[in-house]
Amino acid sequence: MGAQLFVVATPIGHLDDISYRAINVLKSVNIIAAEDTRTSAQLLKHFNIQTPLTACHDHNESNKITQLIQRLQNGEDMALISDAGTPLISDPGFKLVRAAQEHNIRVIPVPGACAAIAALSAVGLPSDRFSFEGFLPSKQSQRLLALHKLKDETQTMIIYEAPHRIVACLKDMAEVFGAERPVGFAREITKTFETIKKMTLGELAVFVESDHNQQKGEIVLVIGGAAEEKDLEQEKLDQLLTRLLQDLSVKAASQLAADLTGIKKKVAYQRALELTQHNEES
Ligand code: SAM
Repeated sequence: MGAQLFVVATPIGHLDDISYRAINVLKSVNIIAAEDTRTSAQLLKHFNIQTPLTACHDHNESNKITQLIQRLQNGEDMALISDAGTPLISDPGFKLVRAAQEHNIRVIPVPGACAAIAALSAVGLPSDRFSFEGFLPSKQSQRLLALHKLKDETQTMIIYEAPHRIVACLKDMAEVFGAERPVGFAREITKTFETIKKMTLGELAVFVESDHNQQKGEIVLVIGGAAEEKDLEQEKLDQLLTRLLQDLSVKAASQLAADLTGIKKKVAYQRALELTQHNEES
């Protein structure tokens, strides 16, 4: 067995969130590659882990890869950690993991805290389909562009945002997605001032702007997806499609229904298929 690279999640606030396995792995490897050795030294000290640390952050990642891969090839087991949460999730580590794979070094995840997943699990928005969008661009013009691209997304979206940009970001979101769009706000997860709320974008923009404390700390936004076709429209569509399907193929009926109602052809086609299957079964 050659050396292994363990990708180890660490807490995002509450230190009890580290796993037994994470502690054991961090104690047993030869070296720990960390985003910031000073931050990680405190964590290691807390758990009495004496494994040496080496820096592997955004600025030196490419240069450092060769050295780290060399050490793995020499048989040294290694753990990769970031300042908080899961490495590679809006954190460095991707290049090291990719290089390890390319050199046939086994990469082993040691799962644990991740702010995106913790937020999604608690804000009460649909979690069956979601996308992780990381940080939006900091410049307003680019942020608006990014938001416009996400406007019609129907799945839940998870976004990380810096506290000093939160008010501007929420205002832009309310403008692009509409003030009525539901949003989850997860701030300081697992920490003393943890705040978990769900409201509309318009309400959240006011709530955060009027309370400076809500503009501090670490924040995850969970945006509800764009509403699917409304129930009433669905009923009308069903009636129309049912009639059209008596004389036309699924393709022709859905094309005509889309032309007549303005709904997306893909939506009409999918529904026509469902109605056809339903009629065949009954
Ligand atoms: N790798 C981390 C993870 O697994 O979530 C994310 C690192 S990223 C550089 C830092 C961002 O994650 C913060 O700006 C914030 O959006 C989010 N975050 C991290 N810890 C958090 C916490 N305790 N509460 C809320 N958001 C958090």
